[in-house]
Formats: sequence, structure tokens, C-alpha cells
Amino acid sequence: MQDRSYDVAIAGGGFVGRTLALALAKLAPQGFRIALVDAEPPDSGSADARASALSAATKNLLAVLGLWERLDAEAQPILAIEITDSPLNAGLRPHLLGFDDEMREGEPGAYMIENSDLQRALATAVAGDSAIDIFAAESIADFNSDAFRIVAKLASGDRIEAPLLVGADGKRSRLRDHAGIKCVGWSYPQLGIVTTVAHSKPHEGRAVQHFLPAGPFAILPLKGNCSSIVWAEEKLRGEAIMAAGEAGFLAELTARFGHRLGEIALAGPRQSFPLDFQVARSFVADRLVLVGDAAHVVHPLAGQGLNIGMRDVAALTETIVDATRLGLDIGAPIQLEHYQRWRRFDSAFSATIMDGLNRLFSNDSAPLRALRDLGLGLVDRAPVLKRFLVREAAGTTGTVPRLLKGESL
Ligand SMILES: Cc1cc2nc3c(=O)[nH]c(=O)nc-3n(C[C@H](O)[C@H](O)[C@H](O)COP(=O)(O)OP(=O)(O)OC[C@H]3O[C@@H](n4cnc5c(N)ncnc54)[C@H](O)[C@@H]3O)c2cc1C
Repeated sequence: MQDRSYDVAIAGGGFVGRTLALALAKLAPQGFRIALVDAEPPDSGSADARASALSAATKNLLAVLGLWERLDAEAQPILAIEITDSPLNAGLRPHLLGFDDEMREGEPGAYMIENSDLQRALATAVAGDSAIDIFAAESIADFNSDAFRIVAKLASGDRIEAPLLVGADGKRSRLRDHAGIKCVGWSYPQLGIVTTVAHSKPHEGRAVQHFLPAGPFAILPLKGNCSSIVWAEEKLRGEAIMAAGEAGFLAELTARFGHRLGEIALAGPRQSFPLDFQVARSFVADRLVLVGDAAHVVHPLAGQGLNIGMRDVAALTETIVDATRLGLDIGAPIQLEHYQRWRRFDSAFSATIMDGLNRLFSNDSAPLRALRDLGLGLVDRAPVLKRFLVREAAGTTGTVPRLLKGESL
């Protein structure tokens, strides 16, 4: 059994935990030591068929950390967005709301990256940073705090201690449960199906969000003539579609995809995910903070879950780095409250917006349909409002942490 001391201990080596470890290693004063504890072996490279829409703000954070240069060649900018709720049997699927010229001005507001590319870049960077000690495959079995530190007992029996423990251990966070933090939340009666499709015509960087009564069906551009599919389907039907043979699955997919991009073929495995809404009642406890899905889980319809987690990373890094430079205790209640004030309202607000959009669109109610179509039609005719929405989605405006604006600390 070993006891080791760190400045921060992070539980969870997903995208959020790893990015936080790297941000602290690069930006905190020299000598700052980080323990990163992950349940999965470091080289497991768990197959993830998803691709993520990363906002310009997330890209800025990754650029400051020197990661974007490793990802740039794989990143497909989103150059236009089309939103429709046409029935599947409609001959034409006119858009209700489209973003085109507004998105071609200046820096793209979002980029598509395959999760496996992001995973690889992060794993290499974290493994190569001497300020980070990786404990994997390992997990935190228990922890206790006193006035100066938190001591975490690992499943192997080793112990690590630090002034602050970060729960980045995903939506079923054991750390959150152990700290007695409850969540507000529910499961959606939908299954999230993802896959990759190759098509004969180019997508020209256009993303399509097709709101169907069972849930949104998104076509998101990847490099080359390929697109990532994120498809929320009514649960039982979704399970049947997942269980179908390849021809049956492709037929269901084609009915929703349409023929705008020519012939299509499956170009990757299919995977399904349960979809939840969840916000922790507190993002902090004694010498503990929650980040990423451990703190909040949102419906994937606008591709915001990871971007919100990256905002946590930027805010927590800024809080920790500023406090460390001043010689303050980074696990003191005043620092934790600073982080919580910065992040909790913003995350809960974003989760509620996604939930509202899913409810507004995932139904066949004629009056609701007329109302939402009128609303989106009005937005479509208001170029100033559309430019504002594009800037908001990029996530770089307002009182955002400096890292999201691409500024170092
Ligand atoms: C279908 C779908 C599509 C999505 N698309 C997008 C998108 O386009 N854009 C976007 O921004 N977001 C998207 N998201 C959301 C995004 O994938 C998540 O928000 C993000 O992956 C959460 O990262 P995380 O690191 O917080 O958690 P996770 O990825 O869940 O990582 C948690 C880590 O903790 C480890 N762990 C668990 N328990 C312990 C323990 N006790 N001790 C130590 N380690 C532990 C696990 O091994 C894992 O490595 C999508 C989600 C879904 C379901």
C-alpha cells in the first residue's frame, strides 16, 4: 500500500477528466502535480462510433493546450445548418430554419471530430506529460476529507491525497453518490442511435437536423463524403432497429436520410445510448467538485454535452490556477463556490433548453407544429437574430472563461 500526495486528484479519464488534467499540467505553476484515476486501462481505446460537434469555444481551449494542431486535419467545419420537420413521406423537405451565409462569415462556429481521433490525441498528450500520474485501470473506492485535504482510497488499496478531488467519472458518478449529492433528472423514452454513413455526393459542410415525431435525426458532416448520424428514436422501435440485420437497418436509415446526398452505405459500426436529462443539485461538496457528465447530462440534439463539460474544465482551471498563484487553498469553500456560481446556472439552463426543444419537436401535435413552424419561420427571416444565434452557439461571447476565448492564463 502506498500513500501519495498531489495538488489535484481527478477521478475519470474520459474527455473531460483528461482535458482538465492536461489544462492544469500546462497552465498551473511549475511543480503542480495531478493524479488521474480512470476505471479503464490506458490503452483500451474503447470503440466509440460517435463523432462530436465541438464549438469554436472548445476548439479555442484545445488550441491553447496544443491539441488542436493534432486534430485540425481531421476536423470538418460546419459551414451551414438546415432545420426541418417535414414528414418523411414529403416529396420535398423544405427547411424551416437555415443558417448559411451567417455561418460563412469569419471563424466556423463548430467542427465535427470523430471521438476516436479526440480520444487518441488526448491519451497521447496526457501520457506524455510528466506532471500527470495515471492510475488505470483503477477506481476510487472511498474518500474522506478534513480541514486541509481529501484522502481517496483506491480499489487496489493505495491511497492518494490532495487539497481537491474532482469527479469527472461520468453520468453514473460514484463520487457524486458517495458525497450524497442528489440529481434532478429523468430518462427520455428515446434511444440514441449513432453510426457513420458514406454518400456519393459531397455534403459541403452542411449539417441537417430533421425533427421527427419520435425524435431528432441529425446528419453531421465528417471529412470526405461521410456523415455522422445521431438519431433519437422511440425506445422500443429503436431497439428493434438496432437488432435488425444490416439491410433492415440501412432501409430504416435511408427512409430518414433521404436522397439529397445520392447513394448511401454504412461506413461504421452502429451503437445505441440511453438518453437522459440530469443535473446535480450541487456541483460541489467538501473538497470535491463535479465536472462534465458527472455534473450534468443533456439531450444530444444540439451536440452540446461535451461542450458544456469543456466549459467546466475552462472555469475550474481558471479558478484553480488563479488561486494557486495567490497561494490560496484550492479546496477551500470560497474557491468551490466560485466555480459553482460560474457553472451551475449555465449548465442547468443549457440542459433545460435542450429538454424544451426535444419536447417541442418530438411530437405530432398539429397546434404545436403550427406554432413552432411559425416561430422558426420568423427567425429564418431575421438575419440579425440569426447572426446572434450563430455567435451564441460558438460559445465565445459573454463572461466566458478566458481559455474559451483562446487566451492563455
Ligand atoms: C448519442 C450521443 C451523441 C453526443 N454527441 C455530442 C456532440 O456532438 N457534442 C457534444 O459536445 N457532446 C455530445 N454528446 C455528449 C458527450 O459525449 C458527453 O457529454 C461526454 O462524453 C462526457 O464526457 P465525460 O468525460 O464527462 O464522461 P465520460 O465520457 O462518461 O467519462 C467518464 C470516465 O470516468 C471513468 N470512471 C467511471 N467511474 C469511475 C470511477 N469510480 N473511478 C475512476 N474512473 C471512473 C470511465 O471509465 C470514463 O473514462 C453526445 C452524447 C450522446 C449519448
